[in-house]
Amino acid sequence: MKKNEHWNTDQIRQYNRSLVLKMIYKEGPVSKAEISKKSELTFATIGNITSELLEIKAIRESGYGKSNGGRRPVLYEFNWDNYYVIALDIGVTQISAALVNFKGNIYKQYNTNMADFSMNINLIERVYGVVDQLISQTDLSLSKIVGIGVSAPGPIDEDDGKILTPPNLQGVKNVSIKELLEQRYHLTTILEKDANAAALAEQWFGSVHSKENILYIFADQGIGGGIIIDSRIFRGFKNGAGEIGHMSIDIDGPRCNCGNFGCLESLASGIALVKRVKQEIHRGAKSSLSDLYLNHEESLTLETIVEHCKKGDLLAESIIDEMGRYLGIGVTNAINFFAPTMVIFGGQMIELNPETIQVTEEIAKDRGFSTYSNDIKFIKSSFGKQSSLMGAASIIQQKIFDYPENTLI
Ligand SMILES: [Zn+2]
Repeated sequence: MKKNEHWNTDQIRQYNRSLVLKMIYKEGPVSKAEISKKSELTFATIGNITSELLEIKAIRESGYGKSNGGRRPVLYEFNWDNYYVIALDIGVTQISAALVNFKGNIYKQYNTNMADFSMNINLIERVYGVVDQLISQTDLSLSKIVGIGVSAPGPIDEDDGKILTPPNLQGVKNVSIKELLEQRYHLTTILEKDANAAALAEQWFGSVHSKENILYIFADQGIGGGIIIDSRIFRGFKNGAGEIGHMSIDIDGPRCNCGNFGCLESLASGIALVKRVKQEIHRGAKSSLSDLYLNHEESLTLETIVEHCKKGDLLAESIIDEMGRYLGIGVTNAINFFAPTMVIFGGQMIELNPETIQVTEEIAKDRGFSTYSNDIKFIKSSFGKQSSLMGAASIIQQKIFDYPENTLI
């Protein structure tokens, strides 16, 4: 939330409350004087806000600080043990649900493989199954769970909490996930696109400074992009922003799951990698993966291809190398357009083959339009395979810090 000069008193009060809570969360244990110095709010305003936050149990007293001559000041910290979030990540091959605390620590997690999404009902039943299991296995009081954050591949309708028609979840169409989960679990639920969620997780739980403008590249089975400007997700019209995976790279390129040809995703994603390797072996290319392709085709996955690449398979190596260069071109185009201060890479393609980041960085620095591309930081996500799951936790957290009095009891 950014302060706006046209706000009314209620909106300003709301903003100040959120600001103080965030400072206590990030910097606690902290005294009122320290908050006042950094926030430029008066001592009286901070006194009122801390009383309110103590009353709703969002914060607690945590001993005394050093005296500056007078009485030692009371210190405040966030009420860490009191709140948990259910994070739910709907991926192309797996659904994960985890109980996460406000430090971003996972308390418990369950995963279920999802090979067949052929109907909405399959997806919904799997989601219920994994969340039910998580809740039934926890010894925490359920009243400590303050919401469910869901990350899923786009496109989504964020306002209605609907997963629309994700090209990589064939058969899934218009699933009102927010409504279904709220009815079943009676918890506030927020849906976010996986790449946006993963980008936000870096802000809340990772090492990213709140002043950074971030481009997040989620290179997984598909390729997604998340944009963070001034600490907020930039969604664009109808949540359409960030779809870097469907940037046209080669007008004569292969068909993408979205229906177009030559999208970045059709050239550099996990799905594209498996497809390309199979195609080349089918055409007669020599590879240590040939046997797998001919006898156990289902075992020819992103993981096995990267494994064979590392053992020196030339076919896997040349395709992975080419895909890294395509990703580099896509990212360079995005940098020229958006000029972020930082590009963060996450997703399975990066986890299995982190060298891709270096290849991308070299291409972006070599081909980027302006000299600023030399100063852009290229880093790996702090959360590995769990990046969109942590993202699901962070979207609830952001909501709570914006409106603590509505969401914390
Ligand atoms: Zn596409």
